Amino acid sequence: MRNADLVARDLAVVWHPCTQMKDHESVPLLPIVRGRGVWLEDADGRRYLDAISSWWTNLFGHAHPAINAALKDQLDALEHVLLAGCTHAPVIELSERLVALAPQGLTRAFYCDNGSSAIEAALKMSFHYWLNVSGRPDKRRFVTLANSYHGETLGALAVGDVALFKQTYAPLIVEALTVPSPDAYLAGPGETALDCARRAAAALDAMLAAHAGEIAALIVEPLVQCAGGMRMHDPEYLRLARAACDRHGVHLIADEIAVGFGRTGTLFACEQAGITPDFLCLSKGLTGGYLPMSVVLTGDDLYRAFYDDYGKLTAFLHSHSYTGNPLAARAALATLDLFAASDVLGRNRELAAHMARLAEPFRTHPHIGDVRQRGMILAFEMVADPATRTPYPWQQRRGLDVYRHALDRGALLRPLGNVVYFMPPYVITEAELDRLAEIAWECIELVTLDPLPFGDIEPDGRSGWLA
Ligand SMILES: *Cc1c(COP(=O)(O)O)cnc(C)c1O
Repeated sequence: MRNADLVARDLAVVWHPCTQMKDHESVPLLPIVRGRGVWLEDADGRRYLDAISSWWTNLFGHAHPAINAALKDQLDALEHVLLAGCTHAPVIELSERLVALAPQGLTRAFYCDNGSSAIEAALKMSFHYWLNVSGRPDKRRFVTLANSYHGETLGALAVGDVALFKQTYAPLIVEALTVPSPDAYLAGPGETALDCARRAAAALDAMLAAHAGEIAALIVEPLVQCAGGMRMHDPEYLRLARAACDRHGVHLIADEIAVGFGRTGTLFACEQAGITPDFLCLSKGLTGGYLPMSVVLTGDDLYRAFYDDYGKLTAFLHSHSYTGNPLAARAALATLDLFAASDVLGRNRELAAHMARLAEPFRTHPHIGDVRQRGMILAFEMVADPATRTPYPWQQRRGLDVYRHALDRGALLRPLGNVVYFMPPYVITEAELDRLAEIAWECIELVTLDPLPFGDIEPDGRSGWLA
């Protein structure tokens, strides 16, 4: 079966995620038949470098022999069993190892199916904790950062702030309290990233001081707001946010669904601030990019607040059919084995240093307003005018053009609006990074040639997922 056949059959029956399906009248749909390491191969035999780790899930490449072997072994033993009333060795061992690796004090693992459902569980747990300890449902609001993203189910959307995802469904969701983001891209003249962190933390403190009695938790994406355009902040914000939450009696939920498992340079991003959140949500890289699974890690104090006689009705009643799936747990264990088998974070430091060298020429590109990096995430912000950081209007979809030109050159490089970024699997080589940088440069050149930034479109600061 060749590309054209698969595309025709797909477009007759499949509805794709996060896609205006009409786009596929002009944007090619990629039928992938094989993955090996950082490479994906389509049905016509063309290869594409997966520069974005298949939406930030893949850590050690596609079809990794060790993860494949673990899954084949597990498949012959047990494919699935419910986790209510039953247990199995993979989920026990995974929980032990996650607790040992996570920041001090996180001692319990609660499993869900995907990132959004982990966020839902953490929100419910936080609210339910305060209900259990006070007997009153007063603490029921959540504080979120501007430009944050926590998933797309209704509860997760409620604590997100990316307009593209949220606006349409706003009438369906409970409003969160929004505080400014510590995003260093928003620095005023002469301001450092640290200044941004302190300014945002002061605003957070004021919000908590004013509403602590009705707030259950603050939710943050530690160090990088990924879906919000790979916006980055100083770790000091996390320290200050932790202190503010403690001062005002509010939980801290760390959403490390995208940044966990070594993306930012440490195994977990929270480590760079030396903090322990009340809830740590993990998914994406958890199974090495193989299977949907997520986990909420929390501590003894939280766990104890739910532990009582059945008749008190304090139990946390939340479940998903595939909670703790043995295959997903084995993929996660095999992934942790790969971290244990070699100095992955050390190698990533070398790769990140190489990425930093490759990023240098982009800093002076006439249509790049910012180059930012945290570990294995490197982002270029395309702008109409770097001096004023005037964004290109989202309607021009220049990021989409980058995507198309990159495919022609053998890279799957899917920008977020006008932000072109690399978030590659950790098994990428320096030569492959060199090629990726060449491709990115050529594509950015092509899509920013047009000297007329706006035409008749009024920029409104919004941006799109694909472009
Ligand atoms: C991807 C993501 C989610 C949602 O995870 P899904 O598995 O797509 O539901 C939540 N938070 C962050 C930070 C993410 O990047």
